[in-house]
Amino acid sequence: MLLLVTCLFCLFNRVISDAENSPRIIIVGAGSSGIAAASKLFENGFDNILILEAENRIGGRIHTTQFGEYLIDLGAQWVHGQVNNVAYELAAPLDLLANTTWQSIAYDSTGRKIDDTVFQDGILFFLHNLTELNVSDPSGSAGEYYEKQFSIYFKDHPEINSTLQKGLLRLYNLISCSLSAADTWYDISLKGDIEYENCEGELSINWKKRGYSTILDILMKKFPDPSKELPVVNNTILNTEVINIDYTADNGSIKIRTLDAQEYLADHVIMTTSLGVLKENYESLFNPPLSESKITTIKGLAFGTVCKIFMQFDEPWWEYNLEWRSFNFLFNETYINKLESDENKRWLASAIAICAVEDKPHLLAAWIAAKGCRLVETLPDDMILEHIMELMHTFLGKDYNITKPTAIMKTNWTQNKHFRGTYSFRSVDSEKVNASAEILSEPIMKNQTPVMLFAGEATNKSHYGTVHGAIASGWREADRLIKFYAKTS
Ligand SMILES: Cc1cc2nc3c(=O)[nH]c(=O)nc-3n(C[C@H](O)[C@H](O)[C@H](O)COP(=O)(O)OP(=O)(O)OC[C@H]3O[C@@H](n4cnc5c(N)ncnc54)[C@H](O)[C@@H]3O)c2cc1C
Repeated sequence: MLLLVTCLFCLFNRVISDAENSPRIIIVGAGSSGIAAASKLFENGFDNILILEAENRIGGRIHTTQFGEYLIDLGAQWVHGQVNNVAYELAAPLDLLANTTWQSIAYDSTGRKIDDTVFQDGILFFLHNLTELNVSDPSGSAGEYYEKQFSIYFKDHPEINSTLQKGLLRLYNLISCSLSAADTWYDISLKGDIEYENCEGELSINWKKRGYSTILDILMKKFPDPSKELPVVNNTILNTEVINIDYTADNGSIKIRTLDAQEYLADHVIMTTSLGVLKENYESLFNPPLSESKITTIKGLAFGTVCKIFMQFDEPWWEYNLEWRSFNFLFNETYINKLESDENKRWLASAIAICAVEDKPHLLAAWIAAKGCRLVETLPDDMILEHIMELMHTFLGKDYNITKPTAIMKTNWTQNKHFRGTYSFRSVDSEKVNASAEILSEPIMKNQTPVMLFAGEATNKSHYGTVHGAIASGWREADRLIKFYAKTS
């Protein structure tokens, strides 16, 4: 039996490896989904594969880069969960991962430390509700749901006065925004949150001294044994922005045009660009235009943003230890009003936390939710530095001798036209038009052949917004082609 299976596999491999018959597959985008799709296709004997990538690097929203003495992740940073998580399954056996602990402490804008038990119990209750939603009516927003849960919680905790309640709810709102890339938790669909599958196990797992880009090397088989590397990078053309995909020809040949006026021909195209890119360009990208249901879905699914600002210090002025992870901020109304009245500084009111970075003792990273993120991306570094010093002094100055960062590096995902944000989520408005990842993922068929295929995190029904969701979507579309050719050969 084994011999028979092996022979069949060799035969199949030979059929599609034959240069004449090998289908021409173009993958648009060398992010994790595109690289996952290409790797799987190469492994299965397809050899006429080309990736066209608009940026000058591979990885997409995985972007590990050098900052001073450390590698940092400007994009994806943690592996979220262990069970049913392909990223975890690939990396854990290679001993590349470590759990991140989340001991947080909070300060308010008068510089007062919030009681640790009050703060940590509240966060635990919030996280519990985030992962174990107990819902009879899934309509409405995540924000409405959490507010209801907390009104019950606060009744049982009279030690939390109304000012503190407001500050805490505002913070939970910002945390929800950063998890979903939303502007407010009233935008996040509760139904979407319920259908999102949290992978069981530790939810924040880091890459120790490495960065998330190691997953790309694992996918391409470059890690751990470079001699087994698949020819993905060699078949990727960087700095090549696709501007139009024409699949009108009757002979099935698809014409792909790029910004540098080149033309490429393919039998199949796997589109992996972010939902943000699709929203901005769907009208000009496809000929013939996409179906009404695809367009409604592209418009209906939500794509938001979040910012990280990495700061480097000569010496840590905070207590660097493995347990402690972040300072959270509880803003009072007077301080919010003061910030809101300054058109440059108002982004500070979206600051969620300043976090330690695992294995990088001289770094802190500030997390800024969507509203402030869009503004901070446009500001010069020296102004950001001045603002962030004010933030740290206001909240932490009474307890810490804060020093000035020696360098900062901020993310720019919304400004970058090849992303236009960070990750997708299902909003209350998505539900109104029944927009779903499944519709986005449906291939466009011509003569019973899948000609245009769609991958990328936003096409993953249960794991959208993540690297593991993106990888699984790339494999899904590679499998679609593998099965298609297995049937036709
Ligand atoms: C700040 C941030 C933090 C995150 N944190 C986490 C985390 O901790 N854990 C986690 O699991 N996930 C996280 N994510 C989400 C995760 O990074 C993404 O879900 C995943 O990387 C998306 O991969 P993708 O292949 O779907 O898309 P992308 O990575 O966006 O790949 C698409 C590629 O297409 C290219 N492209 C765009 N337009 C064109 C064009 N016209 N022509 C050619 N190429 C084009 C882009 O340059 C890009 O390389 C984070 C993302 C960000 C930005």
